[in-house]
Amino acid sequence: MKIKQSIRYDSERSSQFTKEVVSRPGGEMIQACIQCGTCSGVCPLSNYMDRTPRQIIYLAREGFGDEVLHSRTIWMCTSCYACSVECPRGIKITDAMYALKRMAIERGTYPRRFPIPVLARTFFAMVRRNGRTNESQLAAILFLKTNWLQLLNNARLGLDLIRTGRFSMFKWERIEGRAELNAILSDDGKPE
Ligand code: SF4
Ligand code: SF4
Repeated sequence: MKIKQSIRYDSERSSQFTKEVVSRPGGEMIQACIQCGTCSGVCPLSNYMDRTPRQIIYLAREGFGDEVLHSRTIWMCTSCYACSVECPRGIKITDAMYALKRMAIERGTYPRRFPIPVLARTFFAMVRRNGRTNESQLAAILFLKTNWLQLLNNARLGLDLIRTGRFSMFKWERIEGRAELNAILSDDGKPE
């Protein structure tokens, strides 16, 4: 899924973007990167990414925020931590990927119909609302927001799961103490 290399201009760089990445957990060390490429070499998914992990760290360090936050790479990272374990500079690449995902969600720059950010947002919203998730509703919302044809393709399976009691579309389970949970999940510590 490699994308065509484009010319980059100095005017596209933002030192503010780099500062923000560095200020977030996981991003602190990106400026120590020596571009050795070990992270890309050990990453089991780098062949499928539009930018390798090494490129993402480079682009983030140099302030090419738009390119980083529009990349699918940050969403394809499966958090296996292989890169973080092997990095000779001790850069927490996996955590940096999380920081970049959060920035992409905050700015709305994630790929719209790409399932992974949609799943992450839907999951998070459900946890915020109920304190837990409902797998069947999660799957249905995911298909509706990304590829509703998949909902039709999987309808038979879904119905079988409902019939055998494995899935429940209409069970609304909620935990007590949702306000406290929301306070923990809010950046400012106050319930939303
Ligand atoms: S392994 Fe570490 S030092 Fe090497 S390119 Fe990746 S982030 Fe940079
Ligand atoms: S944590 Fe992510 S970027 Fe690092 S090796 Fe695993 S999949 Fe690749």
